[in-house]
Amino acid sequence: MKIFALLHTQADGSLPKASLETVTAAVNLNAQLGGSLTVGVLGAGAAAAADAIAGCGATAFLAVGDEAVAQPRYATDAAAAAALIRAAGAEIVLAPNTSRFARCLPGVAHRVGAQVDTHIVAVCCEGGAVHAQRWFYRQRILGSFSRAARPWMLLVDGGVNALWQGAAGAANAQAVAVAFAAEDQRTTVTGVQAPAADAQTIRPDAALLFVAGAGWTKKQKDGQAHIGDASVLIQGFLRSAKASLGSSKSLVDIQSEGQETLSFMSHMNQVGQTGSTPRHPKGLSTCCHGEEPHAVGWRFINERRAINLDANCGWAQGKADVVYVADAFDVMTKVNSLLNA
Ligand SMILES: Cc1cc2nc3c(=O)[nH]c(=O)nc-3n(C[C@H](O)[C@H](O)[C@H](O)COP(=O)(O)OP(=O)(O)OC[C@H]3O[C@@H](n4cnc5c(N)ncnc54)[C@H](O)[C@@H]3O)c2cc1C
Repeated sequence: MKIFALLHTQADGSLPKASLETVTAAVNLNAQLGGSLTVGVLGAGAAAAADAIAGCGATAFLAVGDEAVAQPRYATDAAAAAALIRAAGAEIVLAPNTSRFARCLPGVAHRVGAQVDTHIVAVCCEGGAVHAQRWFYRQRILGSFSRAARPWMLLVDGGVNALWQGAAGAANAQAVAVAFAAEDQRTTVTGVQAPAADAQTIRPDAALLFVAGAGWTKKQKDGQAHIGDASVLIQGFLRSAKASLGSSKSLVDIQSEGQETLSFMSHMNQVGQTGSTPRHPKGLSTCCHGEEPHAVGWRFINERRAINLDANCGWAQGKADVVYVADAFDVMTKVNSLLNA
């Protein structure tokens, strides 16, 4: 079986975490199958990036490092990835499920006559056949499946495999020639518009996910809402703990209803059945009662704690390891002062 790890570099020529995790998945699958592993890298500094993973046990390394793929762009990435897959004679293709690849690889699958599946969380060999796993129905059902089609392309989710670590060396990556058409290069990335790093509240690599619920905007014991105080407390905590911010649906919906709420929160922060299911080692839910954020949004959080005034909050009780029955305004004021001390 010809296993092919298809990777891309980032702007500085290094391999992103997601690519190194895919190397681990490919090395493990190859060891189970006793197949042959080829690694292909596209993007800026592709050949040097192959050197960084020379010790992974691949029998061959291929690279497309042309100027045309220095920027992530559908047309040139698709042409390069298709050329790499064909050059490798790949049967099983493992690639990171990054935005760069998620955008172009379905088109590549069409070009090379492959089947493609995304959000893969495990790949293994059972009875000589390759099986992949992914979650269905908003992460409630874990499915295991196989396909007869070859090539079969699998986009591996970030955060499920360990980063590949091993010796660098001389990979002697073979440059694969790609005939980029002029019209493939009409689109040019002129820059990236993103909020300042400390204004960005969604941080997939953070050690902690802080989930805010609608309680932060409700009337408190003095009969008043304290949204300004809530903003200061939450943003202060995110800054000190470098945590990622999740929200319940009720909290982000308040904004679209035109009510006063936390200005730094958007639907992008929503976790749960109709939100995201991020992976973090720890989670702290505050003022949050809902089933969906606790049962689905927290699916992949390893250690979970919740702060809720309501001792009978069933979801916090059922899904958190520790529930603090307390006023989140008081607790977070104390936590922030400890963090700042
Ligand atoms: C089809 C469908 C899909 C849905 N998908 C999602 C989804 O993806 N994500 C999602 O989040 N929801 C989803 N929901 C909505 C979900 O069912 C809940 O309505 C929502 O999560 C409740 O939000 P909440 O817990 O923030 O607010 P509330 O239910 O209003 O809870 C507020 C909590 O704050 C506590 N509180 C108030 N003040 C304080 C204080 N000072 N200190 C501590 N605690 C305090 C209260 O005790 C209460 O428990 C979905 C619903 C449906 C029908």
